[in-house]
Amino acid sequence: MMPLLNVERLSKSFGTHQVLKTIDLTVSAGDVTCIVGPSGSGKSTLLRCLNYLEVPTSGVIYLEGEPVGVRWRGNKLFRMSFNELSVQRQKMGMVFQGFHLFPHKTALENIIEAPMIVKGKSRQQVTEEALLLLDKVGLRNRADYYPRQLSGGQQQRVAIARSLAMQPTLMLFDEPTSALDPELVGEVLAVMRQLAEEGMTMVVVTHEMSFARDVADHLVFMDSGVIVEAGHPRDVLSNPQHSRTRSFLARVL
Ligand code: ADP
Ligand code: MG
Repeated sequence: MMPLLNVERLSKSFGTHQVLKTIDLTVSAGDVTCIVGPSGSGKSTLLRCLNYLEVPTSGVIYLEGEPVGVRWRGNKLFRMSFNELSVQRQKMGMVFQGFHLFPHKTALENIIEAPMIVKGKSRQQVTEEALLLLDKVGLRNRADYYPRQLSGGQQQRVAIARSLAMQPTLMLFDEPTSALDPELVGEVLAVMRQLAEEGMTMVVVTHEMSFARDVADHLVFMDSGVIVEAGHPRDVLSNPQHSRTRSFLARVL
């Protein structure tokens, strides 16, 4: 079966600084892939390349067999138009460390904005869908609250619901709990765990090793722009093969 996401020899440099070094990564539909590694190892850059928020220096990312951000013409790759790219990006929901909600819109309005504008659905239809999503993240009774009236954990759950409203094929999470007070981390991880159980394909950059151990199908350890080691979390965590993995795990476990 064709993988949902296939990263082939992805490299990214900023000036002379090569941040990603020929990364290969495959994600099957329904899989949860957790990416861990020290700060500065290139995790966010990798995630941002996946949906072309960063333009790779070389290499190709395939989503459902289609190259992301580029088109083959003959044997050459050309950048696709912004409209084409927007359609591809809609397939990849992204949740960041900060919640990035519109501060002047309620939770419900935050969720319905994009599907209404981008997908051209009616307000009534997207509102019904949004209320179901708020239910899913446990915030049905906060629909009319503004972000400032919500805790960080609640805001992040709204941000997840907002991403889901676009019916993505793949969800990307970049340290979604890192900005939260410790007591709020669990409620966000619980929503993510439920999403995983429902079969959502997810790529999650996280420092939450227990989440990675319990939920991930695939654990990737990155350091200095390379995938040092990858495999089932049980194997990587209990029997790391590389000294860099071992010293990282010794610090975080
Ligand atoms: P991580 O998410 O693992 O902490 P990042 O992907 O954010 O790592 O960063 C990897 C490296 O790339 C860091 O050295 C960072 O300073 C550098 N970097 C990231 N984004 C940029 C950018 N836009 N311009 C220049 N350097 C960048
Ligand atoms: Mg990062």
